Formats: sequence, structure tokens, C-alpha cells
Amino acid sequence: MNIDLSRRGFLKLAGAGVAATSLGAMGFGAAEAAEQAHVRAFKLFSTTEVRNTCTYCSVACGILIYTKGDRAAGETAEVVHIEGDADHPTNRGSLCPKGAALKDTVHSATRLTQPRIRRPGSDKFEEITWEAALDKIARALKDDRDANLIQQNAAGVPVNRWTTTGFLAASATTNETAWLTYKVVRSMGIVGFDNQARV
Ligand code: SF4
Repeated sequence: MNIDLSRRGFLKLAGAGVAATSLGAMGFGAAEAAEQAHVRAFKLFSTTEVRNTCTYCSVACGILIYTKGDRAAGETAEVVHIEGDADHPTNRGSLCPKGAALKDTVHSATRLTQPRIRRPGSDKFEEITWEAALDKIARALKDDRDANLIQQNAAGVPVNRWTTTGFLAASATTNETAWLTYKVVRSMGIVGFDNQARV
């Protein structure tokens, strides 16, 4: 986190603080209150810190997300600050310009937050619920796998290849998520499997 205070500004503020404190001791409390009013409140005060991964590219930098709002008390938590995770082995706290602008991405009015579908013959996308989207994907996967799974090759050797459906995953995830994704996809027999990092 950067503190926007130059050396000159710091000396000025420190000098003002000493003067105001002295004035306060001599009965000039209003001067001290005025000086206090100039000190900006710590913006991460009473926030919740969560570790995550930048979603943009395959570097997968570690980030810290700060939210305000007590969800346990029924409040809506809002992202108020995002910065690089100094403890993350990939980026050691640094972020590229895209990562540094993540908070704006989160709050962007054009960010997709719902699944969308373009139905056969339609020229536009429409929003559907997550449940409807998952049901539809599961149905399509099952039907295609039942119809096209290659269980044996020409020599009669079991191969269990499913070549008519591909899976595009994300590399900007944790090791555990990537491991689980790999296991699920390969266990179904899917051969075409890729992500933006192609690893
Ligand atoms: S901060 Fe930049 S380099 Fe790091 S994952 Fe995000 S987009 Fe990639």
C-alpha cells in the first residue's frame, strides 16, 4: 500500500502536529481538532482480507482483496481495495497494470455476472440462472458422451476416448483447482483440453 505523502508534506504535517498538540496543551483544542481533520482515515480499517489469484493471464499473480461489510451480520460485502500479495511466490506483491486495475474490473458495469445463452436461430444472448446453465451443460455432455465415446480402438484395446467435446479451463487458479479440473476432465475421457497458458 502506498502512502501518498512527500518528505516536505510529512515534515509540514509533523510540525503542524507538534504545534497543534502544544496548542491543545495550552488550551487551544480547536486547533488540534482542525489538524486532526486533515489526517485521512486508514482506508483498510475494518476491512476483511482475502487471498486470491488475478484472473487475467496465465502468470496467475497472488492478490489480496479487501472488502467492507459484515456478511455475518447480513451486510453486503463490497470490494474496496485490491493489491499484490507480498507473500505470493509468483509476483512477490507486484502487479502489472491490468492487475493493478482489478478493482475497476470488479466494479465495471459491463462485467458479466450471469451465464448467458444464445438459443438456436437467435441473434442475441439472454441471461439464464446458474442452475439452468449447469443443467443444460450436464445434459449436453451426457448426451454427447453416450453417443460418441470410443471405448476400444481397432485392436480391441480399451481407450475410452471422448473426442467430440473439448474443455477450456483456466490457468489462473490454485494448484488444487487445477488438479481437480484435470482429474474430472480426463476421467470422462475428454482428449481436447486446454487453457490460456497451454501448460
Ligand atoms: S497481475 Fe498482470 S501479470 Fe499478474 S496475473 Fe494479472 S494480468 Fe497477469
